[in-house]
Amino acid sequence: MKRVLVSEPIHEDGIELLRVRDDVEVILADNSDPTTLARLIPGVHGIAVRTAKMNADLLSLSEDLEVVSRHGVGCDNVDVAHLSKRGIPVAIAAGANSTSVAELTFAMMLTLTRRLRDLDQAVRANNFSARSKLLAMELEGSNLLIIGFGRIGRKVAARARAFGMNVTVADIELDHTLANELGCKGVEDFQSNLSNTDILSIHVPLNDSTRHLVSDQILSQLKPGAILLNCARGGILDEAALLKVLENGHLAGAGLDVFSIEPPPPNNPILRALLAREDVVLAPHAGAASTGAMRAMAIMAAQNILDCFDGVLKPHCTFNLKTLEPR
Ligand code: NAD
Repeated sequence: MKRVLVSEPIHEDGIELLRVRDDVEVILADNSDPTTLARLIPGVHGIAVRTAKMNADLLSLSEDLEVVSRHGVGCDNVDVAHLSKRGIPVAIAAGANSTSVAELTFAMMLTLTRRLRDLDQAVRANNFSARSKLLAMELEGSNLLIIGFGRIGRKVAARARAFGMNVTVADIELDHTLANELGCKGVEDFQSNLSNTDILSIHVPLNDSTRHLVSDQILSQLKPGAILLNCARGGILDEAALLKVLENGHLAGAGLDVFSIEPPPPNNPILRALLAREDVVLAPHAGAASTGAMRAMAIMAAQNILDCFDGVLKPHCTFNLKTLEPR
């Protein structure tokens, strides 16, 4: 019998997929506190995890562990190096949430460029004439720079092209053919394009090489009046630097779905200052929070666990494929 721990609530269809197998026992954690997880992890063969921190101390508690399956794609809450060393795959729900995140990115982009928050307030305040001052930036003909041309970045790029935007995509492993097919300019080094950029959108993973990738030096080179969007991970953006370029008027606004600390603590002065600004549009790490994505992620997270047990885990769903040591 394989024991599978589901560390946080997921869509019932994912749980069901595990339950119909008579060789699988499902353990549902009623909370994801480290002490609860430490009690439940010993002896499990698979773990389905959303955002709970899975560090080496916790993961070492099960010698039988065969797979850790993310309900999502970012793996910064899992000690991937520890699992790779033990020959344990980290599975991801590749593509299950990319439409949802791309759509939130676009919602934030349009909210900022069409000044929807201000327009909404103006109507409520019976200030109809505000429209002559609250002028929008049209997306058609504007320059979008996408850092990270992966599953999400590609969907943002396709939507931006449909709006008539000039799209530059940057990626350390750039698919030039796909960039060409979508009508985008592909660059390996995004720093070459900053002064021409009206909107910068971040779609890379958080890791040692991307922490504070979008720094003071990068933000201050963007075109005056530019907009910054981060629907990837908080740590990629230097939030203090963002606050500075918003306060000095160099940037016109920002859309943030993710934060260096989540939820943003009341005693963090930088995050508090960002949250208080009218030119910042916020969401509570809701990129994947669509009904379709929640179901798709749960099903894929469960299927990846079963595939691993059956020896057929797909390479594109294996996050640590390149570093996985033999067991
Ligand atoms: P992906 O792996 O398909 O794409 C990431 C791309 O970034 C890859 O093409 C990779 O080559 C590129 N990259 C990595 N490091 C880079 C660097 N230093 N410079 C330039 N390019 C670099 O991943 P995805 O599915 O598109 O997701 C991207 C990220 O979005 C995830 O890692 C996750 O952190 C975040 N995400 C957020 C939410 C949310 O709720 N807001 C939901 C899903 C994913």
